[in-house]
Amino acid sequence: MGVIDSAGKIPELSSYDAIVIGAGFAGSVVARELAQRSGKKVAIVESRDHVGGNAYDKYDDAGVLIHAYGPHIFHTNDARAYEYLSQFTDWLDYQHEVLANLHGTYIPVPFNKNSIEKVFDADKAKSYIEKLISVFGDERKVPIIELRNTDDPQLHEIADFVYNNVFLYYTQKQWGLTPEEVDPSVTARVPVFISRDNRYFQDKYQGMPKDGYTKLFDNLLDFEGIDVFLSVDARDVLKFDKSDSKTKVYVDGNEYKGIIVYTGAIDELFDNCFGRLPYRSLDFVYETYNQKHWQPCGTVNYTVSEDYTRITEFTYMTGQDLDVTTIMKEYSRPYEAKPGQIPYYAIISDENQAHYNQYKELADSIDNFYLIGRLAEYRYYNMDAIVSRALELADEICD
Ligand SMILES: Cc1cc2nc3c(=O)[nH]c(=O)nc-3n(C[C@H](O)[C@H](O)[C@H](O)COP(=O)(O)OP(=O)(O)OC[C@H]3O[C@@H](n4cnc5c(N)ncnc54)[C@H](O)[C@@H]3O)c2cc1C
Repeated sequence: MGVIDSAGKIPELSSYDAIVIGAGFAGSVVARELAQRSGKKVAIVESRDHVGGNAYDKYDDAGVLIHAYGPHIFHTNDARAYEYLSQFTDWLDYQHEVLANLHGTYIPVPFNKNSIEKVFDADKAKSYIEKLISVFGDERKVPIIELRNTDDPQLHEIADFVYNNVFLYYTQKQWGLTPEEVDPSVTARVPVFISRDNRYFQDKYQGMPKDGYTKLFDNLLDFEGIDVFLSVDARDVLKFDKSDSKTKVYVDGNEYKGIIVYTGAIDELFDNCFGRLPYRSLDFVYETYNQKHWQPCGTVNYTVSEDYTRITEFTYMTGQDLDVTTIMKEYSRPYEAKPGQIPYYAIISDENQAHYNQYKELADSIDNFYLIGRLAEYRYYNMDAIVSRALELADEICD
């Protein structure tokens, strides 16, 4: 691979068979597959000064491996995605656990038998657990709507407790909502896990890349025919002529007939011509302490207090054994397209989907132009899901 930090200088790209915008999972996997399976010469254009997209990690000044865009834990039941990535990394066994901090009491999330015993007195907890097992069976995840749909006051009490203490305030902070605006259909899906399993995920494959995500990306992109141009914005490379029913793309001043795979924000690429799509953004505040650990596990959610949604302590996840630790507080906020601000989460609604579809229609009017990824498709993907989708897209293009 050639990785070139263009420092804003526009590279000449018209001689490449394919131009991929974005060096996150979506773009990097497609680029690798086009180069490896079809021998294509691929240019990746990335506006940041590093590869890896939001999964990028790096060592901070204290030597702690931190995730620069929020904590990323790999978990999947998809053997193809897992085996694919396993070509580029060994894995560190890591089973993620999340605790909710209820005014200083830590309870496992998802809310489970152990959580019940933390928040109700011993007799009540015993009878609630027996009731859950008798009505729903053991080792089951039951959405709180199912508890509410019974006429049993004990089950209602559990559902209300979970809603008010684990879900409501966290969701309000995450999405900037009032209690009344919290979507009842999402609420309904909040689970109670009738189990002693404190893990956040129960997937077959779970872990962290042994040498970090950035190293995984370096290996993934280290292939003949792939050149990565960092610090270049696609909007400076791709020029559109929308005067016809078929939109044309120009690169280096000439019409480009090769393949374009776009993984960035679709509204921004087209100069927000139909108006901006709404997103949530995040602010991260890091603190380093001269102690082994700061909190009891990798992630603690603040579900009844504080302005931040959660605190991540990276050394739990990365397996680093140090006498120093770095934590990260995560604040959710509206995306306002300010310089340096990143759109993290699409805000899914029928109205926003219809808005997105206008851009999709425009993109579909360009030959050999493919949209993929959390921004380009305006939806949420976990890492395994986007790897899987990128492999499917590569199948489609290569075939
Ligand atoms: C806070 C947070 C935590 C997460 N935690 C997990 C987790 O624990 N487990 C999990 O499986 N998934 C997690 N995810 C999801 C994961 O981040 C995504 O699956 C993944 O990032 C999707 O990859 P992508 O390539 O679509 O997008 P990205 O990683 O965002 O990559 C897109 C790339 O395109 C570049 N780009 C955009 N516009 C342009 C442009 N105009 N010109 C040039 N380059 C451009 C961007 O700079 C970026 O590098 C998390 C997401 C967030 C936000």
